[in-house]
Amino acid sequence: MTTEKFDVVILGGGNAGIGVTGPVRRAGMSVAMIESRDLGGTCPNRGCTPKKVLVAAGHTLHEIERAAVHHIAVGKPRLDWAALIDREKDMIKHIPANLARAMARRQVEVIKGHATFASPNTVRVGDRALQAKHIVIATGSKPRPLPIPGAEHMITSDEMLSERELPASVIFIGGGVISLEFAHVYARTGVEVTILEALPQLLPAMDADAVTQLQGESERIGIGINTGVSVRKIEPANGRLRVVFVHGGHEQTLEADRVVNGAGRIANVDTLNLDAGNVAQTHGRVEVDSCLRSTSNPLVHVCGDAVPISPQLSPIATYEGDIVGRNIVEGAKYSPDYGGMATSVYTTPPLAAVGLTETAAGQKGLAIDVHVNDMLDWFSARTYAETVAWSKVIVEKATDRILGAHFVGHAGQELVNIFGLAMRFGITATQIRENVYAYPTFASDIKHMLGHG
Ligand SMILES: Cc1cc2nc3c(=O)[nH]c(=O)nc-3n(C[C@H](O)[C@H](O)[C@H](O)COP(=O)(O)OP(=O)(O)OC[C@H]3O[C@@H](n4cnc5c(N)ncnc54)[C@H](O)[C@@H]3O)c2cc1C
Repeated sequence: MTTEKFDVVILGGGNAGIGVTGPVRRAGMSVAMIESRDLGGTCPNRGCTPKKVLVAAGHTLHEIERAAVHHIAVGKPRLDWAALIDREKDMIKHIPANLARAMARRQVEVIKGHATFASPNTVRVGDRALQAKHIVIATGSKPRPLPIPGAEHMITSDEMLSERELPASVIFIGGGVISLEFAHVYARTGVEVTILEALPQLLPAMDADAVTQLQGESERIGIGINTGVSVRKIEPANGRLRVVFVHGGHEQTLEADRVVNGAGRIANVDTLNLDAGNVAQTHGRVEVDSCLRSTSNPLVHVCGDAVPISPQLSPIATYEGDIVGRNIVEGAKYSPDYGGMATSVYTTPPLAAVGLTETAAGQKGLAIDVHVNDMLDWFSARTYAETVAWSKVIVEKATDRILGAHFVGHAGQELVNIFGLAMRFGITATQIRENVYAYPTFASDIKHMLGHG
């Protein structure tokens, strides 16, 4: 086997891996990218993008439900699920080929196959050995395995995005982002949906009051929610699946057509032969320094969902990829700053957030003003017949800095970006309030969300 030499070898062609290619190719470095599945990775092929097509259909069903408020009479909607899945697949089908062309234009050599470490500076893929000055782990994440009997009966988001037959009932084990997003779509199509969450709160990283608002809306559309649940086993029963769980000290059972693993995702690094690469890890978490380099092998960099310490979101994967790329070119001098990174749970309405929750701000001992508004009675919420319109903005008293902003409804998934911008670039709460916004828009309500000063 001959050994080929590159400046940079990237394991994984998702957001993170592609993010690395910009800075290193601009610097003229030779780059190989190894991808075992589809270029683009999870977000465009099996995540954000196809999911949003289903979310958009759920949103439309929600609008139809609210049509009567506008004095529009509509019949009972009928959704052709198989055709919707076809639409979703059709919208994303060209993405890997488009990205292959983009990588070719960037003169990145894309190699199909599963990469593993052969030594601290060599990667093996098929019968090729690639030696590199820098190796990047950008291999993403995979569903967290659940150590319960019958776990093999569960499906994941991959199947939910592909199965053309709509189930009559679904149980989600875990009440995180993916579960809630699919639960809202399913419930609006008439599927019987139950969420079983081990912790006392759904979406445990999110602001508790925002989650209460979203939980209320989820229950309003018929989603059954049980928190503080311990799932014991999953077993086939009468052509369906039975979940046995303990809730409130009592063993209970529930049956459904499908059971979904919604217990979150873990870094996908267990098949990389990290030991051969001298890459230190603890329980599948690669140890990284503040510049996203392996603590044991400084030639190895990690970015995207494979990083164990940052939120698993596609813009963050791209951002970390860019940082890794710049560190490779300029030496390790850039560290990620996760402040002001907005996120959204794409339920209908969405829960959007940036920065600290009220609890986290309290734990840091910060003196804060908390502006909470139930906006259902506000003109804009009534105009659009919103079912939830809620916001919480957290401002540091001493500095007037925005520390966090949380929304359910009221175009929060767009407004949150204004608050993210403010947090990143030091725009104060007073400056946000003093801005002149187009009227009537949801953004024009921001002044009122922050009180009148
Ligand atoms: C259902 C779902 C919905 C989501 N929705 C959103 C959303 O709305 N917004 C958002 O911001 N984020 C969302 N995410 C998260 C987002 O998709 C990820 O954060 C993002 O894709 C991570 O990018 P990455 O490059 O780190 O990993 P990936 O995109 O997963 O890319 C990793 C790539 O590495 C390849 N690979 C793995 N191992 C090897 C190997 N040994 N050799 C070669 N190749 C390998 C994989 O095939 C994959 O293509 C969603 C995720 C899921 C699952």
